[in-house]
Amino acid sequence: MYQSKLFTKTTKNISQEEQSRNAQLLVRGGFVDRLTAGVYSFLPLGLRVMKKIENIIREEMNKVDGQEIFMPALCPRENYDKTDRYEILAGDILFHAESKHTKNLVLNQSHEEVITPLMKKFVSSYKDLPLAVYQFQDKFRAEPRPKSGVLRGREFIMKDLYSFHISQDDLDIYYDKVTDAYRRIFDRSGVGKETYLTYASGGSFSKYSHEFQTLTEAGEDIIYLCRDCQVAVNKEIIEDQAGKCPLCAKEELEQLKSAEVGNIFKLGTRFSDSFNLTVLNEKGESSPVIMGCYGIGLQRLMGTIVEIFNDDKGIIWPEAVAPFKVHLISLDQNENANKLYQKLIEAGVEVLFDDRESVGAGQKFAEADLIGCPWRVVLSQKTTTAGQVEIKSRGDEKVEYITEEALVKKLLG
Ligand code: ATP
Ligand code: MG
Repeated sequence: MYQSKLFTKTTKNISQEEQSRNAQLLVRGGFVDRLTAGVYSFLPLGLRVMKKIENIIREEMNKVDGQEIFMPALCPRENYDKTDRYEILAGDILFHAESKHTKNLVLNQSHEEVITPLMKKFVSSYKDLPLAVYQFQDKFRAEPRPKSGVLRGREFIMKDLYSFHISQDDLDIYYDKVTDAYRRIFDRSGVGKETYLTYASGGSFSKYSHEFQTLTEAGEDIIYLCRDCQVAVNKEIIEDQAGKCPLCAKEELEQLKSAEVGNIFKLGTRFSDSFNLTVLNEKGESSPVIMGCYGIGLQRLMGTIVEIFNDDKGIIWPEAVAPFKVHLISLDQNENANKLYQKLIEAGVEVLFDDRESVGAGQKFAEADLIGCPWRVVLSQKTTTAGQVEIKSRGDEKVEYITEEALVKKLLG
């Protein structure tokens, strides 16, 4: 993409209300724009990052046989009455969507109230199970004081997967598979090393649920980490655990701040009972469907990545989620740089090409650091004369000079 055509600009001026590092960096780089508290627009650069994250998640969900669907944001209140969640949620995070022509519609804060009656229309025999469906869809939550930037929005995209089983054993097997898929998602998006499977309270159907907690000072959670077992316990249940690691019972746990990037939960028949979602089992008897649900917040993950990978100059994107792999900078060499740009595009490399003519070298470099693409490639009079280009990784200061052929090889390798 030609940077001269990119409608967003980087900025030094950010609203006083952005206290979090992730939002400050994302707004300054032109990735997002804040409309009001907890509500953000995603601009071309920011949307590219979101789509990268979305695609990693989609690939891993497909690997565990998830079937992608898209459910509505709106839901009749009566569905929440059926699950007895209306009173609780209406007094808390639930948004209402009243209008002149409609009554009793709410904005979904999660989709159990949609997916469960939906499945009732398609599932009737044990032969229809197991089954898993997922979506990427906006959730609406009236979070009391969203002050963590994109980590906690009032409107945000969640990947939510729901699974349906004939037995608890079958759910348990699938739950472990999703746990592995989540590991791969966080590894691939760059935060694997900092992300720990965390024991959290489980509700009425299982002792625990599990969260994926990424260590960061910006997080709103506190976890107790067992370095030996590489698992953690959420502060909310540490007393029930008598302060011990649930695996090895060690008591010396490290208290750390973290952000919950994902959450997996055995629902049992909590929702299938409400909607009478049953199937006929092998004996021809009616049997309640056992459910699991599995969430990842896309903005939460993106903001966490930003919180971890940055320096005083800006963001340092991990390659798999970077808006572009290469930031190509022309210093009065647009003709040569354009040829290289075309060559890279043809080779399948994603390039942001800073072809702006009235902007000086210092500003171009500063903006490239702020935007944070993994590789910066510079064409100047000096490099062109030497038949070379300058290349530098965003993560370190070392500058290299190589031929264009070597560059293409390096970027494809
Ligand atoms: P939290 O404890 O942080 O409020 P939650 O337990 O309410 O989260 P879930 O309902 O399990 O979250 O949602 C699944 C995932 O959605 C979370 O793991 C998180 O990644 C993301 N998420 C939850 N709330 C928000 C929010 N307000 N903004 C962005 N992402 C969110
Ligand atoms: Mg939680």
